[in-house]
Amino acid sequence: MQLVCATANPHKVDEIAAVLGDLVELIARPDHVPDVVEDAGTLEGNARLKARAICDATGLPAVADDTGLFVDALGGEPGVETAYFAGPHATFAENRAKMLRVLDGVTERGAAFVTVALVVWPTGEELLVRGECRGIIADAERSGRGWGYDPLFVPVDHNPEGRTFSQMTDDEKNAISHRGRAFAALRDALMAR
Ligand code: IMP
Repeated sequence: MQLVCATANPHKVDEIAAVLGDLVELIARPDHVPDVVEDAGTLEGNARLKARAICDATGLPAVADDTGLFVDALGGEPGVETAYFAGPHATFAENRAKMLRVLDGVTERGAAFVTVALVVWPTGEELLVRGECRGIIADAERSGRGWGYDPLFVPVDHNPEGRTFSQMTDDEKNAISHRGRAFAALRDALMAR
């Protein structure tokens, strides 16, 4: 089965290939397909907009994912707006700085990263899966590798040392992360079809 990736982010393509590679022939997103405006208001809706655009443009099944960070003390924000928390053109560092600012003095720091992954076929058929990773927002950045909110996010599962994602190897992170879990669920669902 051929599957076109809606993401142009090479790190994500590598991550998806690592999980699905032996099951599907992953095809890179064609350059000529313009970015869609992700304004559906939900992770699922945004994933559908992205996957549908690629499927329509290529005539092939397409996979898209969308992720949000849902912070308990913020009533679930930034959620679907996670990439734009500190503004429409915010950098990762600016988003992290805002997160530390709004949680300053807050002791209840629970949060969840949630990823939805969606495959759409030219027939209109869809397959939707979800992956979640619970954690807490650290009260300061922990140096290390990683991107986005990685230096702030301390997952609860299999993490007795209380490391942030940025202090884990890719393999350690993928084994418990929201995206790793979503794509593992997608692999299982595709195998069961
Ligand atoms: P996207 O839908 O995968 O682009 O994720 C939306 C935003 O969530 C990104 O811009 C990042 O700020 C954040 N994010 C998603 N996944 C991760 C992760 O694994 N670590 C840290 N931040 C992430």
